[in-house]
Amino acid sequence: MSTSETQRLQPVKRFFRWYYFNFSERISAPDEIEQREFGYMNFEGGMVRHLSFKSPGEYRAFLVKSSPLAVYYSVALYHDPTAPMESKGWIKADLAFDIDIKDASPRIKENSFWICRSCHSYGPLPKPDKCPRCGSRDVDEVEWVCDECMEEVKEAATALMRLLMEDFGLSRKNIKIYFSGNNGYHFHVIDERMRKLGQPERIELVDYILMNGYDEKIFQRNSPEGAVIKQRRKIPIDPNVTIDVRRIFRAPESLHNESGLSKREVERLESFDPFTDAVVLPDEEVEIKVYYMPKVKFKEQTYGPFKEERLKLPAFLAVYLHLKGLGEIIELGR
Ligand SMILES: [Zn+2]
Repeated sequence: MSTSETQRLQPVKRFFRWYYFNFSERISAPDEIEQREFGYMNFEGGMVRHLSFKSPGEYRAFLVKSSPLAVYYSVALYHDPTAPMESKGWIKADLAFDIDIKDASPRIKENSFWICRSCHSYGPLPKPDKCPRCGSRDVDEVEWVCDECMEEVKEAATALMRLLMEDFGLSRKNIKIYFSGNNGYHFHVIDERMRKLGQPERIELVDYILMNGYDEKIFQRNSPEGAVIKQRRKIPIDPNVTIDVRRIFRAPESLHNESGLSKREVERLESFDPFTDAVVLPDEEVEIKVYYMPKVKFKEQTYGPFKEERLKLPAFLAVYLHLKGLGEIIELGR
């Protein structure tokens, strides 16, 4: 992260601190915590890895003290989680899945747009190589979701849950589903049979889910006992997440560094609304200069569209816009 990026993130820090200070009890710690590797991103632009905690209490105390920009822990369990990667001693790993909106809903492109980081011009996709107004090459694509594309991601997540239960015989209580904190869903599967699967077996599993011309014979040999193969539609999971048995995965109930929403556990997919249920930052009004924001619904209320306006918005929305580079929180008294 550049110095200017570090500077840019500072107004958000107090809200992250507020959340971890007030809600650390909500943060669920993983089982066998002492065998997991933890990592975090701080507001100074650093990524720190190879940490470990001895207890849930120690982990929560760390969150309160450090208020990280993002926090992750390993799907894997290791003999020595703080050792360098090659000597950690891999034991087993939770099976993880990520369904992201860009794979699950091509419709996302319709609402997304580009914005120039220098002069804040914006326009519909495709993104130009350089800003037509100021010539800067610092132009980014911003994903913007609508109700329909969020529904499509949810449908994919529902299909994945059904497949895990019906084809692999997993029980619902061993499948933890989370809103990713930013436009997708994460699955943590903590079934012992699945945890023992190595990388080759996970590649087979991914091919089956993506319908990548998997080899039925190999699949049956490698898949967990009792698996039943069924004809299904392709489910758009991110293969890299499932295959990587050493990945550190965003921690449940932590805040997402690109949205300020939380990685919230989902009890029932049908009724889950990320823009209500994953909103955990305060309602207090914050002054913000918005460059551009299409219409959006948070907590059942519609906001915008806004263009080049200075206004007061609830903190959760101001942080969301600030982190997406669509506005600038104005800190009073500074
Ligand atoms: Zn520009």
